[in-house]
Amino acid sequence: MLDSNGAPHRAHLSEAPAGRGPIAILEPHYDDAWVNLGGTMLLRPQQRFRIVSVAEDAKNRHNRTQTLPQYVPHVETVALRLRGIPWSFRGSLEEAVRLFCAQNRLSSLAALAERLWPYVADCEEVWLPMGLEHPQHAIVAQLLPIGGKRFAYYREFPYFFPSRIRDFRRFDVGFRYKLAHARQLWRRLHGYRAEYVDVRRVREQKWHIFTLVYPEQASLLALRRSRVGALALQDEALFRPCGGRVSRLRRWGAIVLFEFIRGGTCRVF
Ligand SMILES: [Zn+2]
Repeated sequence: MLDSNGAPHRAHLSEAPAGRGPIAILEPHYDDAWVNLGGTMLLRPQQRFRIVSVAEDAKNRHNRTQTLPQYVPHVETVALRLRGIPWSFRGSLEEAVRLFCAQNRLSSLAALAERLWPYVADCEEVWLPMGLEHPQHAIVAQLLPIGGKRFAYYREFPYFFPSRIRDFRRFDVGFRYKLAHARQLWRRLHGYRAEYVDVRRVREQKWHIFTLVYPEQASLLALRRSRVGALALQDEALFRPCGGRVSRLRRWGAIVLFEFIRGGTCRVF
């Protein structure tokens, strides 16, 4: 909701920090930050996090993220409430960007980065989604550089869903989707160092908060036992620019280990 001055809805945005600034997490939709980084946030209670929710669409239009601070006080939230591009969009990334800008009266993505600036200016780092599958995620992933801030990409709960969620349980379908996703990830990770966060210690808590805050996303629960098609929700990873080349083999090694071996076997929920 916009207030009378046309400013985006703000909630729980606290005063400028003493000392270390918060880490800004850009989430394309309400839930992405918690789904993908909830454990990381729980493991770092001394660090402040600011979740900036960017867009909403017919499938995800209730700002549940704003209730997160009730359960996790070191998290603050702000929502821009822009009109997002739905998952069903079938055009190129350029077309998605054009449509997104047009329907939100933005001259370009640079205008969006400018609108974001007040919420990230005091932040130590900005974390963005990889933007591999969902067009709205891909748009948010285009927002770099934001004022020269240090940044990292976060690993998204994969959006390479087969048309029916139960197909995930079929080994062949799941494997095919996953392989295509791994290839895409491999191309993107050139020049990035992967940081896998072990969130097993807090996974019950993460899961519990997820069900309280995002009850409408309960269908994700159905994926937790899937074997190959989806990562379990406790797998969290950040990818940071490392300034150097990472060999093809190392990139594949990391992906195979995480996507197929470790991610595939962590079915502990
Ligand atoms: Zn999303």
